[in-house]
Amino acid sequence: MIVYSRQKIDNSDIDAVVEALKSDMLTCGERVVEFEEALCKLTGAKFAVAMNSATSALHAAYIALGVCKNDEIITTPITFAATANAAIMCGANVKFADVLSNGNIDPNSIKNLINKQTKVITAVDFGGLPVNMDEIKNISKEHGIKIIDDASHALGSSINGKMIGNLADITIFSFHAIKPITTFEGGALLTNDEDIAKSARLTRSHGMVKKQAWNMDMISMGYNYRLSDVACALGLSQLKRLDEFISRRDEIAAIYEDAFSDSKHLKTIKIPSHIRSARHLYPVLLNSNLWCAKEDIFNELHSRGIGVQVHYKPTYQFSFYKKLYGEQFLSGAEDFYRAELSLPCHQMMSDDDVRFIISNLNELLDKYALATICS
Ligand SMILES: *Cc1c(COP(=O)(O)O)cnc(C)c1O
Repeated sequence: MIVYSRQKIDNSDIDAVVEALKSDMLTCGERVVEFEEALCKLTGAKFAVAMNSATSALHAAYIALGVCKNDEIITTPITFAATANAAIMCGANVKFADVLSNGNIDPNSIKNLINKQTKVITAVDFGGLPVNMDEIKNISKEHGIKIIDDASHALGSSINGKMIGNLADITIFSFHAIKPITTFEGGALLTNDEDIAKSARLTRSHGMVKKQAWNMDMISMGYNYRLSDVACALGLSQLKRLDEFISRRDEIAAIYEDAFSDSKHLKTIKIPSHIRSARHLYPVLLNSNLWCAKEDIFNELHSRGIGVQVHYKPTYQFSFYKKLYGEQFLSGAEDFYRAELSLPCHQMMSDDDVRFIISNLNELLDKYALATICS
């Protein structure tokens, strides 16, 4: 199966992990600090706090921003559930804003949801395409609302050469196996605010600080959200090849763009020239006459060894969220969900793989466009 995204592990990664395994500190050692420093160097952020997942980092972010019961956060429903879940963990209410046709949160929709309870806006750089952070900042600043950038897809993305990681109050990265780089599982919180970084370090490790000798104090509620040195060794090694990974995904995307430029059945999401996307995903948007055939197209592609995926079922459609907030319907998010198909795009694919996917997809789209009438 050609999966939609996956890791690339080479001998340098294996050597780095083995070396870390043989060292004295398997966790809480210097590799964690080195990995955090490397993330700061890449992004220009002042502080990085490595954690065992992006979900943990999101939870620590909401805590650091003081999100608690009855506060509201505004986010996009076109994301992985954890973006909203981590705010629910703090007892907050989640308001879902609609999305633009590129899958990113719609700033105009954010405006309509802001009220006195709004504490945080959490944007997601869908597929690696950065949100328009200036526009979101303009909306939030007059209300004193903080911004989290869930950049789980966007390590290595940039706007006008400015790296993602340094544009919001807090930026979150994921190093889950299929994200831009991997530490098996893992994530990080980046910020320029020292108090936020301190809070996140406390949340990461039981809220404890060392006083003297054996004497520790626990000064706030905390968890065990630490990332091991073995994982950070992999992260450090992977980070060296991030640029190479993105360049390969760019080449694959260029072949797709060329092949689909005059497609009658789908649209691609163009990346403007001042933006670099980490291209965690390569999403295409099927024309509405094919929406009701998407499940058949999906299944047929899978049976041919092409592991397409759909990103994302809107968070408010999950039964957990329906129980909390009732039925919701955001037309941009609904249309995006019905249209979207993520084609395989990762650094282990050959050009032949890409051509195989293009010809199979085109064949199936032609077939279903003739056979299907979606109302
Ligand atoms: C993957 C992902 C997460 C969760 O990342 P983990 O590291 O698996 O916890 C959160 N938000 C988005 C947008 C993601 O894609």
